[in-house]
Amino acid sequence: MSIPPIRHRHVNEHPVRKDGDYVLYWMIAFRRTGWNFSLQHAVDRANQLGKPLLIFEPLRTRYRWASDRLHRFVIEGMADNAANCQRQGVAYFPYVEPAPGRGTPLLHRLAKRACTVVTDQYPCFFLPDMIRAVKDRIPARLEQVDSNGVIPLAQPDRFFTVAHSYRRWTQKNVIDSLLAMPREQPLTDLQNKQADADSLLPAGVKRRWKAADLTALLGDGGLAEIPIDHDVRPSPTVRGGSVEANRRLDTFLKHRLSDYDELRNHPDEHATTGLSAHLHFGHIAAHQVVQAILDHESWTPDQAGAANGKNHGFWNTSPPAEALLDQILTWREIGFNQAYQRPQTYDRLESLPDWAQKTIAETRSDPRPYLYTLNQFENAQTHDELWNAAQRELVETGLMHNYMRMLWGKKILHWTENAQQALDFMIHLNNKYGLDGRDPNSYCGILWVLGRTDRAWGPKRPVFGSIRYMTSDSTRRKLRLGKYLQRFGD
Ligand SMILES: Cc1cc2nc3c(=O)[nH]c(=O)nc-3n(C[C@H](O)[C@H](O)[C@H](O)COP(=O)(O)OP(=O)(O)OC[C@H]3O[C@@H](n4cnc5c(N)ncnc54)[C@H](O)[C@@H]3O)c2cc1C
Repeated sequence: MSIPPIRHRHVNEHPVRKDGDYVLYWMIAFRRTGWNFSLQHAVDRANQLGKPLLIFEPLRTRYRWASDRLHRFVIEGMADNAANCQRQGVAYFPYVEPAPGRGTPLLHRLAKRACTVVTDQYPCFFLPDMIRAVKDRIPARLEQVDSNGVIPLAQPDRFFTVAHSYRRWTQKNVIDSLLAMPREQPLTDLQNKQADADSLLPAGVKRRWKAADLTALLGDGGLAEIPIDHDVRPSPTVRGGSVEANRRLDTFLKHRLSDYDELRNHPDEHATTGLSAHLHFGHIAAHQVVQAILDHESWTPDQAGAANGKNHGFWNTSPPAEALLDQILTWREIGFNQAYQRPQTYDRLESLPDWAQKTIAETRSDPRPYLYTLNQFENAQTHDELWNAAQRELVETGLMHNYMRMLWGKKILHWTENAQQALDFMIHLNNKYGLDGRDPNSYCGILWVLGRTDRAWGPKRPVFGSIRYMTSDSTRRKLRLGKYLQRFGD
């Protein structure tokens, strides 16, 4: 096996069907054709069996918060994948469900003729349940591959509660992972190429299911007939797909990396990568971003220092590169560690450390200075212009600046009846409007607001207790926000 074995598992016991027509890659999370261990494994399987590869990329209708915004972003990614597969002569079958439930029988029909089905292992939202529901019913071997992050999900054997211990662990182990990165263009290795999906599809499939007409779906009114939330409009500023993700990465490395550590907290400066939505939908791999930063720095493994658990002094790159590597390798990947290690509680108050649960219980009856309904929050109708601006940024663009996200969450805790309601409101708003929502980092960020991956702070304050406190006044003093408020303010 050419991918690291720790990234692979069989989820059922069906034998490989050697006389099948193709190897099926069921692309559900790593929606890209490069830097993708799942696709690499599917190519390896196809080569071992001497069969062609069929890439099946479906988009469901029935999942919470499905909307024009999320659909358009994913379909833009499908258009890039279609173009790439066509260029490389590989069969690609994109499918957008016109109505709930149409895709499941299609998967079964495709699986019936497959030698084996390779799919993506993603540790949160509806995907783990979907795999559990399908694994015993799918008429083929089902293999899952983890291409989520630079550190394989299964490698750390515990849930990390604080960043410095996860960082120290990563520093000790990351060099091995950097030597086992996914291939940049796995499709170039495919031996038996058949470009035309139609020639591979079983006749019954061709009669009942049409490949998505991506141009029509991306045209005016193209999503109107699909039963999803049409009020959450596509983002006017963030386009989906690998082409856009690569463009963002290149521009960032050329023009913005050098100021990342100094400017990233200032919303007016647009100093970050803006890649979280593309990372979430798998349009770009964390591996690729990390490798691009290291190449940009002409970094070699002998530069690595001793594991110190600190966010500087390990990579020994320039300070901005070190700061960005820390966001991706520590802060992004600890979210994946937590969701993978605690599949039942990663999105709940039970996942908080004891001190946070205790302080939440102690402050339960503290009077709140303001109380807002979900509707008031959603419509940016609080007394606080800065909070309203952050909410408008999220609703209008589909993203929110990281520093504003922290303040946004802290104030929801401050202005709701209790921590459970704060958690529910944050999850709903973040996941409904955020292109990068429904991700391990959504839950990790939201639960950070309530004390996860943080420590107890003093002195204790009303409503917050020992949970870290933030105010809009100090945020206004610290950050450059003039243009931000002009655009999103009251
Ligand atoms: C309340 C709250 C909610 C959040 N919800 C989400 C969410 O739904 N989806 C999401 O991806 N992130 C979320 N975050 C984390 C963080 O705000 C975003 O990842 C970051 O703002 C994305 O912007 P960027 O891509 O320009 O980041 P950059 O600064 O360019 O960083 C590059 C990448 O590193 C990762 N990263 C950076 N900062 C963080 C962080 N603090 N925590 C985890 N990963 C990080 C992201 O993958 C990001 O794309 C949330 C944080 C908070 C406090």
